[in-house]
Amino acid sequence: MEMWYTEKQTDSFGITAKITKTYVNEQTEFQQLDMIETEEFGTMLVLDGMVMTTVKDEFVYHEMVAHPALFTHPNPENVLVVGGGDGGVIREIMKHDKVKTAVLVDIDGKVIEYSKKYLPSIACELENPRVEVIVNDGFMHIHEHKNTYDVIMVDSTEPVGPAANLFTRGFYQGIYEALKEDGIFVAQTDNPWFKADLIQSVNRDVKEVFPIVRVYGANIPTYPSGLWTFTMGSKKYDPLAVKEADIAEIDTKYYSPRLHQAAFVLPKFVEDLVK
Ligand code: SAM
Repeated sequence: MEMWYTEKQTDSFGITAKITKTYVNEQTEFQQLDMIETEEFGTMLVLDGMVMTTVKDEFVYHEMVAHPALFTHPNPENVLVVGGGDGGVIREIMKHDKVKTAVLVDIDGKVIEYSKKYLPSIACELENPRVEVIVNDGFMHIHEHKNTYDVIMVDSTEPVGPAANLFTRGFYQGIYEALKEDGIFVAQTDNPWFKADLIQSVNRDVKEVFPIVRVYGANIPTYPSGLWTFTMGSKKYDPLAVKEADIAEIDTKYYSPRLHQAAFVLPKFVEDLVK
């Protein structure tokens, strides 16, 4: 009998994938965690019924969280990832020689454990000596670390369950204070088709805290609607001022020096949301 997994992206719309194997089906302390094998996208991590990552398209999201901010900051020595327990953003950060330490703070140790086991191509840099992995609430962590980081990346689940307070003005204020005086932060901010309100409220809140705010996009086939946004808040450096020639060659499949500028050109209806 064929097995199919469906993520209900709204009350009346979803995406569905044929499953060939289920590796994990577990309620952790924080969320429902499923690790499944799909025919089209390979191994897929699902949290609370939402696709977090798949082996086939993960590179888009992870590269686009990490590289725009790291190539905007001239000296990103200390980097924090909030969430991101699958390790994909850390893998991308490790491609930057200027980064001396990257701290990953995920609330759920089970995501880290199962990602190492079932997603080795994504979690492969979690044991790098430049990386420190902490199991804790990211909200607590940023409030306990003032003036510490050059770049903070928020690779969280959607604003439900443990991540609900990671989409609040108080969190962005905490991030501002956890950054050094020229710090940059970036967060995944969902999609403009089904979550326009969220993008607008995040944009409004981040603009109240950071002087420079830019939104960029990427195409991610397994995320709701396929069109994903990221919001960057910066104290000093503008990602739009970065020139192609300033961007070093690194091994990527989506991000490139040419794409850096292009990603900030939004479709008109998205541009209107964040004006
Ligand atoms: N790329 C995904 C997406 O946008 O669908 C998200 C990746 S997933 C690895 C996000 C991680 O955020 C999960 O491992 C979850 O445990 C973690 N997380 C959720 N709330 C958190 C919190 N308050 N503090 C730290 N990590 C949190």
